[in-house]
Amino acid sequence: MFLIIFFAGGHNITSLQDQYVTVAKRYGRIAYCLIPSNIYLILRPQSSTSYLNSLNLHKWTSRFIILCSLIHTVGFLVHWKEEKALSHAFYLLNFLGVAAFTFLFILAFVSLYWVRRFNYLFFYLFHNFTSILMIVLITFHARPGVTPTFIITALFLVYFLYLRFWNVYKVDDIKIIEGKNSKLQIIKIPIFFNWSPGSHIRINYSYSFWECWLGPTHPFSIANNQEDNLNQITLIMRKTNFKFDPTFSYLLSKPYVSIEKPFFNNVEIVNIIVGGSGISFGLPIYNHLKNTNTRVKLIWATRSKNDLFINKHLDMKGVEVYTTKIDDDAAPEEVFKIGEDESEGDGLLDDDANDEEIEMESLNNKKAKGDKEEFVLGRPNLDEVFASDIGVDNDGIDGDKCWVLACGPPSLVKDAKNWSKSHGFNFFNEKYEM
Ligand SMILES: Cc1cc2nc3c(=O)[nH]c(=O)nc-3n(C[C@H](O)[C@H](O)[C@H](O)COP(=O)(O)OP(=O)(O)OC[C@H]3O[C@@H](n4cnc5c(N)ncnc54)[C@H](O)[C@@H]3O)c2cc1C
Repeated sequence: MFLIIFFAGGHNITSLQDQYVTVAKRYGRIAYCLIPSNIYLILRPQSSTSYLNSLNLHKWTSRFIILCSLIHTVGFLVHWKEEKALSHAFYLLNFLGVAAFTFLFILAFVSLYWVRRFNYLFFYLFHNFTSILMIVLITFHARPGVTPTFIITALFLVYFLYLRFWNVYKVDDIKIIEGKNSKLQIIKIPIFFNWSPGSHIRINYSYSFWECWLGPTHPFSIANNQEDNLNQITLIMRKTNFKFDPTFSYLLSKPYVSIEKPFFNNVEIVNIIVGGSGISFGLPIYNHLKNTNTRVKLIWATRSKNDLFINKHLDMKGVEVYTTKIDDDAAPEEVFKIGEDESEGDGLLDDDANDEEIEMESLNNKKAKGDKEEFVLGRPNLDEVFASDIGVDNDGIDGDKCWVLACGPPSLVKDAKNWSKSHGFNFFNEKYEM
């Protein structure tokens, strides 16, 4: 993409000093022409690529739009300065462009990782406001006009609104299961549709809430498998600002593929490692592959033993559980094996590190009491956990068929990625954030 943009901007330019205004004009148009494809990417085209791929492409296209707009704006400012006509920037049609660029420039900062993390809602609202502003203002600012591009953009936007508000399921009768002192919740939603393992849905508030119209929708992986035939989906959710209320209705999108379908027909060894709520991504893939000829292993690292209430509500057979903390109120009769490393995680599970302890009502404490659970105390050592049972030795197996999948805190994902690199495995990770 970079090369196409670079050469389109510089085509037939022999002297930048003499022709920089032409270059500036071109980059202005290129920026606007990239908008339809950028909106197409947020429609999350199902057939062509996975959610993460289109999200990454969307981010890169946005960066190019900002870069091209910057070249366009700087080019014209330099030109007007040389002509001693800086006041041209304030002519109405020019000023529309200056205004759009100013917001775009601020958006570049608002989109920085730490700002997004600090206040995702603000990022989301500012991002959408700036995008709409740019689409509208530049339609008037650009000379000659850009009407065809505007029409394509508008059509994509209409389709986006259709997907978000119309092509959704209204769901109610939602069941919430909480574990005592756990930051995880199980959400059961009665619904019937087809999905492949590892897919996620997006949840929105119902129409009477302002968040439905303006706020972001909330993606959650489907933790159970279609093969279960339960006519319901199960989510495993880490408690954040977004909370389900069982008395409310919600809007639920169609499922989106995270890991592309050919993967499931073309794997021989799969090592999956997930942390905390990342179990919702790993578990359905694991349970699906268990029933095939694939050698598959799932390691779930969780910060608190209290999260193990999940085991009683989902098919966790064969999953190796590691926990770094046995809480004071852990039932003393529960069985555990001591792992080699008993130290608290060095950030392995640091997604929970800043969480406050919240007292919660246990809905299933009685049932859990006395049940035997097996887990290892400490952090998983990748060489050991991936080596045993299914083996790290992938000799004789096509390298393309050996995978490591990861989902969880960045340090866990990084360790898994390094491990897969050093053992010649392919690597995929699901990110539970923007
Ligand atoms: C593909 C995918 C699957 C996910 N599956 C699960 C799951 O199974 N279980 C689970 O507990 N969590 C999952 N998440 C994360 C979950 O969607 C967010 O934690 C939740 O939306 C946060 O809502 P909030 O209002 O509390 O966020 P805020 O407190 O406003 O933001 C917290 C952080 O959550 C992330 N986030 C918030 N909204 C979105 C959004 N619309 N898209 C992407 N990231 C967002 C951002 O990184 C943000 O900084 C998943 C995320 C993605 C992208």
